[in-house]
Amino acid sequence: MPSTVFVICTHLHYAHVLNIRECINARMVVQKTELDFALSPHPLFAHLYDASMAEELPFETVEGDVELLAGIKLHHFGGHTPGSQGVAVRTHQGQAVISGMCTTQKNFDPPLGVAHTPVLACGIHVDPIQSYEAIARIKRMADIILPNHDTRLLEGMK
Ligand SMILES: [Zn+2]
Repeated sequence: MPSTVFVICTHLHYAHVLNIRECINARMVVQKTELDFALSPHPLFAHLYDASMAEELPFETVEGDVELLAGIKLHHFGGHTPGSQGVAVRTHQGQAVISGMCTTQKNFDPPLGVAHTPVLACGIHVDPIQSYEAIARIKRMADIILPNHDTRLLEGMK
């Protein structure tokens, strides 16, 4: 019996789904608000989306916080995009959270002297306050934070 492969789309900025057409047998999961926005993006953000991809692919949508599989939960955060979602995975080392936003570790632990807040909103956002609150929420809930744009991920989090 073939196993089911999921592609969890944290959001639909083209940089995050560039090769998704290659995943022909996968179930593609995205927040409904994100798919709706990708189908008709605000002009300020339209250059970050490929509306034809959003129209053509058989996305499955979820709304809000959803347990996709045992130990794997999707969290709607918003802020970066209307439907940004993170992925929390229960591991032996604790709860790991993929931020789902264009972030680095500096968003979660700003260097001293650079920020006057405990976290920083991501640089691109549709709602900076929601982005800030999402990053603060991830910092509270995660034992292991996996920021999407942190180059250390490519090096195995050294
Ligand atoms: Zn993004």
